[in-house]
Amino acid sequence: MKILLVEDEAGLILTLTDRLRSEGFDVRSATDGERGLSYALAESFDLIILDVMLPKRNGLDVCRDLRQKNVTTPILMLTARGETLDKVLGLKLGADDYLTKPFEMLELLARIEALLRRSPNTNGNTPDAFRFGDVSVDFRRAEVSKNNQPVELSAIEFKLLQFLIENRGAVHSRDKLLDAVWGYDAMPTTRTVDVHVAWLRQKLEANPKHPQFIQTVHGLGYKFIT
Ligand code: CA
Repeated sequence: MKILLVEDEAGLILTLTDRLRSEGFDVRSATDGERGLSYALAESFDLIILDVMLPKRNGLDVCRDLRQKNVTTPILMLTARGETLDKVLGLKLGADDYLTKPFEMLELLARIEALLRRSPNTNGNTPDAFRFGDVSVDFRRAEVSKNNQPVELSAIEFKLLQFLIENRGAVHSRDKLLDAVWGYDAMPTTRTVDVHVAWLRQKLEANPKHPQFIQTVHGLGYKFIT
């Protein structure tokens, strides 16, 4: 597995490279946005870790440029504390996840693992776009629309929807959904799953009380069908 690390803090590059290599990853690093972009276009990577604040070209621009050039490699953005706007913008521009600095190494590894698991390069079942009913989902841009009107989903709602679509037809217990979608987050309960499913239905289903796509399987959990 090859990881491209685009980061300008020498200390962080050193720490991350050492740790990722010890986990068995092949790591290449770039210390500015322009170099990062050219490496990402020239070679294929399984994952890109991309800092937002970078010399020459910032991480958001690099992310947008890569997606515009149809590079679908999963991107994990690193943002500084409080850069909420960057997180939202990063996801809109096609990043797959973000992590706020400073972060625990174990959390970074958990995110990497989750992204690689979801990556089309490893499981082959993530389409770029998916349609059901009046809804269309653009996975690369992390955008959802219903009747051609944009629908605002939180990052977790989007992840939940993506997981359900990728694994459509199968029944998922609440525990399995927690593990797959929330995974590394702080102690959500199975009730959290119900609440987010309800929100997704509210936003996407024609009749949320009688959902056509996100269905409850009594006693077992949920499944997505088309
Ligand atoms: Ca930086």
